[in-house]
Amino acid sequence: MPTYQFRCPGGCPDFSAIYPMADVPGQDACPRCAAPARRLFGAPALGVGRTAAMQLQDRTRASAEHPDVVQRLPGAGRRNTPVTTNPLHRRLPRP
Ligand SMILES: [Zn+2]
Repeated sequence: MPTYQFRCPGGCPDFSAIYPMADVPGQDACPRCAAPARRLFGAPALGVGRTAAMQLQDRTRASAEHPDVVQRLPGAGRRNTPVTTNPLHRRLPRP
């Protein structure tokens, strides 16, 4: 069942309630002051997936639209770092 947001006219914080889509009221009683709070209209959470496949699709789509900014090319800093730390490898012939 979807979650609906309500706003109290008395200035209380917005609250949410769960109703079936067929039975959602336009107003609900505020849990703090029992005043009739109006239902808010917001964006549905269509792009938020809970399964691993949907999360992967969301991350892929987000990385395509907003790719990470890199400071250097991948692997550019590996030339000066030794490949191995084993001292026996120093005796091997160099290319
Ligand atoms: Zn209230």
